[in-house]
Amino acid sequence: MIRLGDFELYSLSDGFFRLDGGAMFGVVPRVLWERRTTPDDRNRITLGLRPLLVRTGTHNVLIDAGIGDKMSEKEREIYAIDRERHLDHSLAAAGFTAHDIDVVIASHLHFDHVGGFTALVDGVLVPRFPRAQYFVRRTEWEDATHPHERNRASYLAENFLPLQDAGVLRFIEGDGEVLPGISAWRTGGHTMHHQLLKVESGGRTAVFVADLMPTTAHVDEPWIMGYDLYPMDTFMYKKQFVREAIDREYIIFFEHDPKIAAGIIRQQGNRRIVEPVQS
Ligand SMILES: [Zn+2]
Repeated sequence: MIRLGDFELYSLSDGFFRLDGGAMFGVVPRVLWERRTTPDDRNRITLGLRPLLVRTGTHNVLIDAGIGDKMSEKEREIYAIDRERHLDHSLAAAGFTAHDIDVVIASHLHFDHVGGFTALVDGVLVPRFPRAQYFVRRTEWEDATHPHERNRASYLAENFLPLQDAGVLRFIEGDGEVLPGISAWRTGGHTMHHQLLKVESGGRTAVFVADLMPTTAHVDEPWIMGYDLYPMDTFMYKKQFVREAIDREYIIFFEHDPKIAAGIIRQQGNRRIVEPVQS
């Protein structure tokens, strides 16, 4: 647990998976990225799945919910999904159950972020957090429900349409506060309407950056995923954001880093390092 003013932050885990190393680093050649992460014999690198739980005192807010348990055998093999310890274990270790969550917020609707939003119970898809309202940016919802060939594989309707059917879907209409102390800001880049979440309490700021910087290896500006639909938008947003993060000593939560859940970015000469924040 990391304390932030009046809030308690818990970095959770839904296990690990693997994605193609080349796709994770875009134009950066393997001779450079393999110094930061070692690929397996199929060129895949291990990534974490780290939702963030914020206990504000009035709400228990979950930001993203991991990859979930609905993937097929084939998909589990392709992505080497390892959920030996998954979100339920992680919630329990933090002293919570699915019933304790009253708000769930999506950074965007890709399957590795919102797979855990729904569950298959007796053949029926239902919201996985039975008491929660789910907040999704309206424009991201529009894109996810009208996919094209380039993003179709990432938007799986089973992860979000059941929320609308259950009447628990709430739209975020633009930038700003979602709940007291928690605000959403569109970054674009990865998807046109991808957003980060800022958590502010007691004069301190933590930021859940999702796929703007999926791992600590993505802090340098040109290290941008090949998956990003609008890489130059990622570049421009990251450039200004990282400067702000360094100046204001934001605690950054790295959703896909296999080892470091949270850290503060420091400038050391012309190098940037991430100083881990221990819970
Ligand atoms: Zn994504």
